[in-house]
Amino acid sequence: MNTVDNRTFAFAEFVSSPFNLHIDGAQVRANGGNTFESLDPGTGAVIATLAAGDAADVDAAVSAARKAFITSNWATMPAADRAVILHRLADLIDQNSALLAEIESKDVGKPRAQAAAFDIPHAAQTFRYYADLSNNTRSREPFAVKGNEAWSVRQPYGVCAFIFPWNFPFLLLGWNVSPALAAGNTIVIKPAAETSLSALYFARLAEQAGVPKGVVNVVTGSGTVVGTALAGHSGINRLSFTGSPEVGRVVAEACARNLVPAKLELGGKGAAVLFDDVSVDNAAEALAGAVTLNAGQVCCTATRWLVHETIADAFIAKAAKSMSGMKIGYGGDDTTQLGPLVSDKQRRRVLGYVERSKSEGAEAYLPGGAAEVSDREGGFYVKPALLGGAPDNVCAREEVFGPVAYVMTFRDEDEAIKLVNSSPYGLANSVWTADTRRAKRVAEQLVAGNSWINAHNLFPHGVTYGGVNLSGCGGGILGPDTLDDYYRKLSVVRPI
Ligand code: NAD
Repeated sequence: MNTVDNRTFAFAEFVSSPFNLHIDGAQVRANGGNTFESLDPGTGAVIATLAAGDAADVDAAVSAARKAFITSNWATMPAADRAVILHRLADLIDQNSALLAEIESKDVGKPRAQAAAFDIPHAAQTFRYYADLSNNTRSREPFAVKGNEAWSVRQPYGVCAFIFPWNFPFLLLGWNVSPALAAGNTIVIKPAAETSLSALYFARLAEQAGVPKGVVNVVTGSGTVVGTALAGHSGINRLSFTGSPEVGRVVAEACARNLVPAKLELGGKGAAVLFDDVSVDNAAEALAGAVTLNAGQVCCTATRWLVHETIADAFIAKAAKSMSGMKIGYGGDDTTQLGPLVSDKQRRRVLGYVERSKSEGAEAYLPGGAAEVSDREGGFYVKPALLGGAPDNVCAREEVFGPVAYVMTFRDEDEAIKLVNSSPYGLANSVWTADTRRAKRVAEQLVAGNSWINAHNLFPHGVTYGGVNLSGCGGGILGPDTLDDYYRKLSVVRPI
């Protein structure tokens, strides 16, 4: 069998029976016996039937995680032993990357080649990063204080809950759960209903790697039922939510009622600031790639393009050419650059935004609209849109979450900085210029969790990635400090 046949066969086998919840190391039916279907965004066809959990299932998952925290040796084993298991897990992710990329492509619609090149290996690498970091983190830290012997102890928190969106299901799972597991916590995951398959596969891989049963639990189902029950559960010790600011607020309120700390990674309206000394061709190519990555369903990508007025015409012409030349197609077709959106709901949202933007007076350099892909009639495809004009336009202000860029011009540095910082979001922006001093000066004045220079969408392990204001709070992910977020600190003092 060649690789393609292997991939198809492995996926068909994986989805051949209904998916249950993963609780306490077993695959169990939902308490109410309810199910829901997962669709292939590239065709609209049903690819899998999943268990629709409810509050009783969340209760069972939290109890299993609590029991595993107390009775398995996960929380108490030496960090080095946990690190060995997490390295094994990372290796298993790599060994199964073809199937995982196939799952992500079928579930999200994203180009399989992109999932194979980025989502899966980057997630695997994150497990290695936190495994090594936890192995090199001191469990006891002395305080130098007069008259006392004093130190702090790092302990795992207990049960950590995770709620994920649908755009990068496996990558975000890897980024978020790896520090929690490395610190010795047990977890309950609620994936997005649209894209739950890779989380279920992950739970099986974790146990295959040697993670004790009950440490990783997955409850699939709707946000309003499973998400609400998990966020409001008094048995969790921490929660991490990735998703929209609207739902993030509801989740944080539910956590606050139980005084449970919540980490929120929310939406964005990222800007790219292009000064007049950039290579217009390179910048236009890179930003066209950024706004169409994952069909534009990327929280941190650049969707507001702030271009110096002297290069605007040349830049718009080049960017429009790049974007309109993108190959729109099925995620499983290896020549596809722009796959479908995740759902019909998302497609209607994106098309609606483009129409509203035009009706508010935006110039349409590329008008966008629905796209057809031959033999894939039921898919949720859209064409990329390049709009531009006044900064108060809806597409300059609100998160669209599709392949839609909005161009604005500026005259000088101060105006550019003001424009970037006028957004209530604060996730990630980029500065493009040949002048490194200017790049650094501007990058540091942007109000957001991340500033990038002459590139967009950079996620090196060891650099904290997170948002401020409407884009989140609670410390971010991917950095060394993220591991510390998953330890409960205890201070001990002895007068001497
Ligand atoms: P969403 O907020 O609608 O849903 C996210 C998750 O919350 C899903 O699992 C959903 O089922 C669940 N949920 C829904 N209602 C709930 C409730 N009442 N209580 C508890 N959980 C509930 O977001 P989405 O549409 O899945 O994803 C898109 C959003 O995610 C965008 O705003 C995007 O910018 C953001 N996002 C942010 C990051 C980041 O790192 N900052 C990464 C990816 C996506």
